[in-house]
Amino acid sequence: MTLRNGKEFLMIPGPTNVPDEVLRAMHRPPLEIYDGPLVATTEYCLAGLKKIFQTTGNTYIYAANGHGAWDVALSNTLCGGDKVLVLSSGRFAVGWGEAAELMGLEVEYLPGDWSTPVDPAAVKARLAEDTAKEIKAVLVVQVDTASGVWNDIKAIREAMEEAKHDALYMVDTMASLGCVEFKMDDWGVDVCVTGSQKGLMSSPGLAFVAANSRALEAHESADLRVNYFDWTFRHGPEHYNKYCGTPPEHLLFGFKKALELIEEEGLENVWKRHSLLAEATRQAVATWSQSGALDFNITDPDYRSNSLTVVRFKDIDPAPLRAFTREVCGVSIGGTIGDLSGKGLRIAHMGHVNAVMVLGTLSAIELGLKTCGIPHGAGGVQAAIDYLAQAL
Ligand SMILES: *Cc1c(COP(=O)(O)O)cnc(C)c1O
Repeated sequence: MTLRNGKEFLMIPGPTNVPDEVLRAMHRPPLEIYDGPLVATTEYCLAGLKKIFQTTGNTYIYAANGHGAWDVALSNTLCGGDKVLVLSSGRFAVGWGEAAELMGLEVEYLPGDWSTPVDPAAVKARLAEDTAKEIKAVLVVQVDTASGVWNDIKAIREAMEEAKHDALYMVDTMASLGCVEFKMDDWGVDVCVTGSQKGLMSSPGLAFVAANSRALEAHESADLRVNYFDWTFRHGPEHYNKYCGTPPEHLLFGFKKALELIEEEGLENVWKRHSLLAEATRQAVATWSQSGALDFNITDPDYRSNSLTVVRFKDIDPAPLRAFTREVCGVSIGGTIGDLSGKGLRIAHMGHVNAVMVLGTLSAIELGLKTCGIPHGAGGVQAAIDYLAQAL
């Protein structure tokens, strides 16, 4: 017996649910690319991105995914053999470091683990040792989608300043932009990368990059530049310069609509909605974890992200539970990846999500815990409701 006929929820940490308005905006013929209305769409998207990154720097749009955005940031600002410091806290900053290695950069990984955030004091200590200023860039993710950690981007910048180090500060906000507070200029971020398919509620396939004046200055002497990613070409006067050729038009039509939806709701309200729905999720997980069979992956509650919650199971295979929620209830929950592969759940609450979707998801998980015989504290969904009732 299944109960899945109805609207399916995609509660995985990317791609996420795409609003119907965004899908509808894509259903139209392409436009000409040298002038006409497409130019205004580009202008709207580039300006809208500045508001979301909270920067007066430049923004760029690529037909690429997050991995492409990583390459954009590195190739435009660095020279072969330059050293970069990668702040590990799960899978994704390390993945960025691996991309840097392939590009011919020298990569040092500041050790981290999968249950705690990047420690700003360790960053400060490492940079203070680098008196020769060999490290040219520091790479970190705001939210690591494998561990569920939230890193304090502002505190890490302060640590860099205390170490009196001038490395470029590059931040991956793939799983956090449009979900949690981010202030590129105020926090001194030089290059920021993100993608369309997570908090920004759009179809996969667009990568977004923002760069400030320090990054643009580094760009002038960078020698890893490649044609498609190159900022210099994109600064050219023609509309096609902005995309180094034909734009990914339908993705842009959809993304513009997503930006309009964010503008309508208000960015601060978007952050607030995510924080409420994340805390409701955490209340449920905390209740279930009373059995001792499962727990939060991130030990310190202050560093659990508002865009996804990673849950670890103790010697229990989560696969039957995930299959149950998907095939019987109609909601996909993320599985854990990398070092945590097969050991738990990644419950996404990012992007186009409301109380119905999150409470429905938590209900399906609680039903699954019961039917799969996984020991859990009773009343997780009730705890989520109780939390929202007093928080609203
Ligand atoms: C999803 C993700 C990426 C990679 O994005 P792709 O679009 O899959 O290439 C990079 N960093 C973080 C933090 C992510 O969550």
